[in-house]
Amino acid sequence: MGFLAGKKVLIVGIASKLSIATGIADAMHREGAEIALTYQNDKLKKRVEGFGEKWSSDLILPLDVADDSQVAAVFESIKEKWGSIDIVVHSVGYAPAHELDGDYVDATTREGFAMAHDISAYSFVALAKYARPLMRETGGALLTLTYLGADRVVPNYNVMGLAKASLEANVKYMASSLGADNIRVNAISAGPIRTLAASGVKNFRKMLSETAKQAPLKRNVTIEEVGNAAAFMCSDLASGISGEILYVDAGFNTTAMHSFEE
Ligand code: NAD
Repeated sequence: MGFLAGKKVLIVGIASKLSIATGIADAMHREGAEIALTYQNDKLKKRVEGFGEKWSSDLILPLDVADDSQVAAVFESIKEKWGSIDIVVHSVGYAPAHELDGDYVDATTREGFAMAHDISAYSFVALAKYARPLMRETGGALLTLTYLGADRVVPNYNVMGLAKASLEANVKYMASSLGADNIRVNAISAGPIRTLAASGVKNFRKMLSETAKQAPLKRNVTIEEVGNAAAFMCSDLASGISGEILYVDAGFNTTAMHSFEE
């Protein structure tokens, strides 16, 4: 029996087979979880429904996280179908492409700043508002995905770095707010992985090669590795962990001054 047997999970953020959320769904399904999925728009509907077959998901719902009525409708459907929920995975991020290209001060706009924070950070607490009543009796776990650019200046990551910093603070405030209901809130800070969202960051390939060169493990991480860590963080095996940012990045965040070696 898998260590997520009997757990009901909502996974938000599948756009392709390369998505980090796909790696998470694979791992959680393997460990016995029942999985509900969402798709951002009609363009992604068929594709996400295709993935759903693989995980035997019978709850596949539309969700643009910018729309509160869609957030409410997703949890209404979950309430009707399942009555309760154990785990919510938020694997969503967005900033307009022109914000992720070049000098931070020049590239950042008021509109882009607001949108990056709304979609990438606020949406996590928006999901939590509706998840809490469905988790009250047994507790639960919420997980989001962040990146080192929250903490350090990464070229071209620009306003996404600020949105991720907000998201990481969100994790801590949400953990404090929801802890009394036995709901844990954590983040995984993943190393760079080639996905649709990542390809929006200028020179993303260089981020991959620099990371592989400098990381203690001398490589990049995979969505399978992030998926396994996510499954653990959302399981009862991690029952003592909340408000945590767990790095799954081949150790890259622990290093500095590697150019000395060249
Ligand atoms: P991805 O493009 O596969 O996934 C991003 C998801 O966000 C997509 O499913 C997209 O539909 C969804 N999304 C965007 N705007 C939305 C909206 N308004 N409503 C609903 N959904 C919306 O890319 P990914 O790399 O798997 O990204 C998942 C998360 O992982 C993001 O938060 C990203 O910042 C984070 N992350 C990615 C990397 C990386 O290098 N790929 C590294 C660290 C963290």
